[in-house]
Amino acid sequence: MPPTATLEDIKAYQQKVEKDKITPDNLPPCPRCSVESMFFKIHAYRERRFLLIIEMLIKAAYCSLVRFKCPGCGKTFTHYPDFAIPQKHYTQPTITGFSAGYVESDNMTYQQAVMVDNSAPGYPQSDSTDAPTLAPTTIHRWITTLGRFTQTCRTALILVLQQNPTLSICRDLARLIIPQRKYKTNYRKKQLFGCRQLVIIEAFFQATFNTSIFTKLATRCAFN
Ligand SMILES: [Zn+2]
Repeated sequence: MPPTATLEDIKAYQQKVEKDKITPDNLPPCPRCSVESMFFKIHAYRERRFLLIIEMLIKAAYCSLVRFKCPGCGKTFTHYPDFAIPQKHYTQPTITGFSAGYVESDNMTYQQAVMVDNSAPGYPQSDSTDAPTLAPTTIHRWITTLGRFTQTCRTALILVLQQNPTLSICRDLARLIIPQRKYKTNYRKKQLFGCRQLVIIEAFFQATFNTSIFTKLATRCAFN
């Protein structure tokens, strides 16, 4: 089974939105003017399209996301559900799962990285034999995205260590090596490295806070 959020996840979050259960209370303060998040006001609801993988088919599902506004400076923030990654339609388990599969293996190619049990998740309504499926270049792009959250990762790591300083996470991070065959430029090496770090930190973060980095740090999810 390919990693993915489920329709149930989307529906459960939509219900929370409709019942006003999404609050800004646990977000970090405004990064621009330091106003505490509990003073943020609801600014807007935006419908977002998510892509799920259901029985090896890629299907769209819609969900409202809440935007908050800082009363101090007017900056707005999106609240991300656990299954969302900023600016991405595929869900967090899919993006992290496929990306981790690639970066954590020494030999895997992008062509192999899209495969689940000998086939790649496909788009429905395509009868041709070369049906469009999840493309190897998509995994490449996901890794680029995940590799860019360096500042968010740093903040997440600090929070995890504050909660439990004895964790082995620093040892795990210090040990990371990216096999040379996976990159031609230092720039790509950096992205692969950033992505691997994020995968590790996200796992510890979820275990510690029972929520994803992008949910808890919504006000800090800028690309760096
Ligand atoms: Zn502010």
